Amino acid sequence: MIDQSHFIIAIDGYASSGKSTLAKDLAKYLNVAYVDTGAMYRAVTLYLIEEKIDFEKLKSWNGVLKGINISFKRNSKTLKNETFLNGESVEDEIRSLRVSSKVSEVSVIKDVRDFLVRQQRQMGKTISLVMDGRDIGTVVFPNAIAKFFVTAELEVRAKRRYLELVNKGSGLTFNQVKDNLQHRDIIDTTREISPLKKAKDAMEIDNSNISVAQQLDMAIKHVEGCLK
Ligand code: C5P
Repeated sequence: MIDQSHFIIAIDGYASSGKSTLAKDLAKYLNVAYVDTGAMYRAVTLYLIEEKIDFEKLKSWNGVLKGINISFKRNSKTLKNETFLNGESVEDEIRSLRVSSKVSEVSVIKDVRDFLVRQQRQMGKTISLVMDGRDIGTVVFPNAIAKFFVTAELEVRAKRRYLELVNKGSGLTFNQVKDNLQHRDIIDTTREISPLKKAKDAMEIDNSNISVAQQLDMAIKHVEGCLK
């Protein structure tokens, strides 16, 4: 059993690769907090859209970022974590295509990354957690006790995401979903600052052909090995 009192587990991977599922399952198993950093970039993007801020032309970010407060709270009915932007739940809205289609463009901006990375490091200062994103094992917590790099074939990821959205009543087509994943992957892996890449010491999991339970099992074994 895991007995270390304070540790960080970093999970990075492509869009809709199943990294959030793994992160949530692992956090539950270890009885520690889970932080979805993608939700933070999505919340900033939603704010910029709602406030009609032309972020590509913005020269000074200080004033804008001061107006953004992101927090997470557990919904007592659904027992799921929800993302709050300035006190309002935006959990569904941040998953919409209007946010998904702009979030990677917002995520290349240095001021935005500095603003969010500072908050992410702060969260991990006092409590143990599992954090997922694109740069967690490489930049945010390079000393994380265990790191994972999660992948799956594009077709498989697009199918999973499409079905998830259909179940939520979305009218998006399969190709719209697939194009968005591809679009984000290209920007996320090629951007100058903190591009998505596998940390040298990360365990790679390709879950194209394995179940959620098998994925969790592999991850638990790896974490237990790292914590010994
Ligand atoms: O994890 P999710 O797919 O919700 O992330 C949405 C977007 O946020 C990613 O495509 C990426 O552009 C950005 N992101 C990031 N760094 C992170 C987490 C997410 O750049 N740590």
